[in-house]
Amino acid sequence: MAENEATLYNARQLNLPEKEISQAATDIIKRLLDAGYKAYLVGGCIRDLLLGLHPKDFDIATDATPEQVKSVFKKKCRIIGRRFRLAHIYHNGNIYEVATFRGFDQSGDRVVHQGQILRDNIYGSIDQDVLRRDFTCNALYLDVTDLSIIDYVGGVQDIQNKRLNLIGKASDRFTEDPVRMLRCIRFSAKLGLELSEDCRNTIPKLTNSLLKVPSARLFDEIIKLFHCAKMTAAFQLMRHYKLFDQLFPLLKKPLAESDHTQEFLSNAFTNTDARLANNQSVTPVFLMACVLWPDMIEGYKKLITKDHKPYEALHIAANKTLEKQRDILSIPRAIQTGIRQIWVMQLRFKRMHGKGVYTTLHHPRFRAAYDFLLLRASVHEQLELKADFWTHIQELSPEAIRSLIFGKRARNGKMNAELV
Ligand code: ATP
Ligand code: MG
Repeated sequence: MAENEATLYNARQLNLPEKEISQAATDIIKRLLDAGYKAYLVGGCIRDLLLGLHPKDFDIATDATPEQVKSVFKKKCRIIGRRFRLAHIYHNGNIYEVATFRGFDQSGDRVVHQGQILRDNIYGSIDQDVLRRDFTCNALYLDVTDLSIIDYVGGVQDIQNKRLNLIGKASDRFTEDPVRMLRCIRFSAKLGLELSEDCRNTIPKLTNSLLKVPSARLFDEIIKLFHCAKMTAAFQLMRHYKLFDQLFPLLKKPLAESDHTQEFLSNAFTNTDARLANNQSVTPVFLMACVLWPDMIEGYKKLITKDHKPYEALHIAANKTLEKQRDILSIPRAIQTGIRQIWVMQLRFKRMHGKGVYTTLHHPRFRAAYDFLLLRASVHEQLELKADFWTHIQELSPEAIRSLIFGKRARNGKMNAELV
């Protein structure tokens, strides 16, 4: 790698769509330049623009320290993070991340334990900063004043050749930060970039190291994967590299033993990808509820055979599943509550007569729980009638609903405890 030597490209000649560059991010950069600092757009936004995609956010890199950024933007700026301090700028209702160039000084606020970087707040220059970034495609800097792209690591060529190359040796870079393995899967799936041989060979050796990552950070990263709009492809990659087993050990057995589980999850991911492609909303609750369902249902079935009542069995099984998963991923309380609600609603859906039907229909989680029921029905034929009932009822007038749920035929249906 040619340290300190950059190739300069003209963004227009690379057909980077100039109009898509965020005006707000440009304004922030110009204010930093006016205050005498260096500042560039960096990372995913340039990569996405070169690939013809819409960037999800516009990140900024600067030689100003977070405190100096704060003194330029005052109340519009908040310094965040301990592991990696950076400045958030609030502008026109959005948040822009401004990160100070990182450097290599031996002394300062950097903590490394067994090769893993636990904290990195040593500042430096752009040619040092570039080397701490993960992939070559994420290490391009755009100077908004003349639209030049500064490339120290061959990122432009890698993007053109659709290659996902780490900067440096995979074993070092994944040890420094195991989350990069998940980022690797996400960028490969989302952007259609091919993993380098070094990555392909190294990931299987280091999957265990994911467990050293704080569980809250892993949860955030998993949600980014779930919502990358190409989770179907990412799921295959994660399974191939055993990263899925590492993060969701509870699924190892159900996935190995039943094609239904595999199909259920694949359908869940395909649906979410399709929702995102159609700009429909998604929530982390839904896919988490899907992923943990096979384990919960195993526990539920065992409890039912021991004569527990359905709701009681479900509560006990749900607690157990969430507790087991907690060591690896820390699922925020509110999301846990949402997951439980979706699961409990699966029992409520069994009751298709009487007043309870109204409560189910008007439950705040009805929509998500109904989608969940459809997903279950997509792999279990025996649920089709139930799914049809809850689809049909949503289209009926209040009178028709009343006669459907209080009529004689409705009463004949008896609730059983079975859940699949
Ligand atoms: P996207 O925003 O589309 O998820 P991104 O590449 O912009 O992708 P961010 O998490 O926003 O990802 O990070 C911005 C940039 O910071 C990255 O492009 C990369 O250069 C650097 N970066 C982020 N996380 C890491 C990491 N764990 N290791 C090394 N560099 C990282
Ligand atoms: Mg980004």
